[in-house]
Amino acid sequence: MTFELPKLPYNASALEPFISAKTIEFHYGKHHQTYVTKLNGLLPGSAFENATLEEIIQKAEGPIFNNGAQVWNHTFFWEGFSARRGTSPSGKLLQLIEQQFGSFDEFKTKFADAAVNLFGSGWAWLVLKADGSLAIVQTGNAGNPLRDGHKPLLTCDVWEHAYYLDYQNRRPDFLAAFWNLVDWDLIAARLG
Ligand code: MN
Repeated sequence: MTFELPKLPYNASALEPFISAKTIEFHYGKHHQTYVTKLNGLLPGSAFENATLEEIIQKAEGPIFNNGAQVWNHTFFWEGFSARRGTSPSGKLLQLIEQQFGSFDEFKTKFADAAVNLFGSGWAWLVLKADGSLAIVQTGNAGNPLRDGHKPLLTCDVWEHAYYLDYQNRRPDFLAAFWNLVDWDLIAARLG
């Protein structure tokens, strides 16, 4: 199988001023593309030649896992945003958030803490667990919660390449900006 860089569902400046077109140019156009290109180079002749990204995430190790998971993680990250602003969770998703975290504000604080305090490179996630409850999890490097049987709902990339052009070393400022971009209708649709 040959993978392709998915088209963004908005234009490169749609996330400004929170994520600049320059960051999209590098983070999507270079980093995300490079994971796709590297994965395609690793697959021929491997056990994962005909595998889906999800199968790669579940079973692969080493470079095939790292590049495959990074392709999936980035697509999922970009597809949580839209050009709309000011959405918030409602319905079943809000109910689950309030049940688990007390309030939407409490959830945002805990998620941002998980993202800011993740040491080194990785991802913060909101996931739906097999028991139907929500959890915030951190994964290092290319890690993905599908591997632990969770259903990802929202993610924030906290590799430095995600924020350095816009925020330099200020990861908390990137998290504060992140909330402006999340389209909660898209996230709620992931509940299934
Ligand atoms: Mn990234």
